[in-house]
Amino acid sequence: MRTIYQNAEVYRTDKKSFGRYELAVENGIITALDEKLEAEAGDEVVNLNGYTLIPGLVDVHVHLRVPGNPEKETIETGTRAAARGGYTTICPMPNLKPAPDSSENLAVQEALIKQEAVVKVLPYGCITLGQKGRGELIDFASIKDRVFAFSDDGRGVQGAEEMREAMEECAKLGKAVVAHCEVEDLIEGGYIHKGAYCEAHHHKGICSESEWLQVARDIELSRQTGCQYHICHISTKESVALLRQAKAEGLRVTGETAPHYLLLTDMDLEEDGRFKMNPPIRSKADQEALIKGIMDGTIDCLATDHAPHTAEEKGKGLAGSNMGIVGLETAFPLMYTNFVKTGQMTLEHLIELMANKPRELFGLEGGVAVGECADFTVLDLEASYNIDPETFLSKGRATPFTDWAVQGKTILTLVNGKVAYQDESFNK
Ligand SMILES: [Zn+2]
Repeated sequence: MRTIYQNAEVYRTDKKSFGRYELAVENGIITALDEKLEAEAGDEVVNLNGYTLIPGLVDVHVHLRVPGNPEKETIETGTRAAARGGYTTICPMPNLKPAPDSSENLAVQEALIKQEAVVKVLPYGCITLGQKGRGELIDFASIKDRVFAFSDDGRGVQGAEEMREAMEECAKLGKAVVAHCEVEDLIEGGYIHKGAYCEAHHHKGICSESEWLQVARDIELSRQTGCQYHICHISTKESVALLRQAKAEGLRVTGETAPHYLLLTDMDLEEDGRFKMNPPIRSKADQEALIKGIMDGTIDCLATDHAPHTAEEKGKGLAGSNMGIVGLETAFPLMYTNFVKTGQMTLEHLIELMANKPRELFGLEGGVAVGECADFTVLDLEASYNIDPETFLSKGRATPFTDWAVQGKTILTLVNGKVAYQDESFNK
């Protein structure tokens, strides 16, 4: 059966612009896209009430916690949260139990994804056995066709030789290495940015070098090996400068940052676990460099680093709480409200950062165009509300954005033409 979606402002990926279009979806594929489509007998017609239709968002950096810790999040709750956030594809990091470091261990995660996922879930494979950030490397070839890319996220790969070998292997296999950059020897028990707030409140700080020294090392290794290399959750101005330089040299290096690094500085911290994540929220100068990096294309895309924990794990203040905040249900409205509505960024640019670029960098399907899978999101950009963690579909509730006033609400999320999320206000 064919479904025709009409009465929406549609972002066409093939034109990279908005217009008034109608879409036809058949067997999960967008089969027609034009200013006016003639409905035939048997077609279902859906009136989108003048809402905005955009390509499904892609988050290349999330944590879904299973196998291992279903009390924090499951594939079901994590993917429902993603669909509510407008995401149709998400890529979970491998800090799991068991970690996806072999065909057998990856199969455990794959079985859960198959049973529970309501959006597309493309898992990462580990770089090191047990995702330890050191020691023996995994057999990359054995799982290469079943993973999105390789990462030890949650940890940096500590040894340069291990990272070089991993990049050599991945270059041969045509897979990207996606790196959480953190020199463990420089952390010294730190848990927030080593800056003004940290000093004033007598906390232990995480220096910026702990991130950018490894970024610099890995860019050099990417140059030597030719491996596609993507930097996770960039938080420091030095990392932005290194990435800009690498791109100027034409290296296969890209990077992401997350909304919390763009919207907060260490002076916004409160003595509350919902302000704690790794890497930490940095200084004003870092924030400004990240925004510049997003605006000039140095930083390629936005990810959330959605990292749910239980209320108990997040209830122990800055020093005692686990690292990580949730982000899938707040990323789009936060960026839309604080960058698009303020006139700093066009909506087209935000779609580039959250939907087009991740697909381009990693060769993923999707986009609003004829012949693509019907993965798209319908938004009410006029809807205003305050962020209320109690309404989250994620099991995680810790966000520094509680009570922030935002605009932009997901009405409908379709994955392969099937409803993955539908707002209660919308009766299609
Ligand atoms: Zn990380």
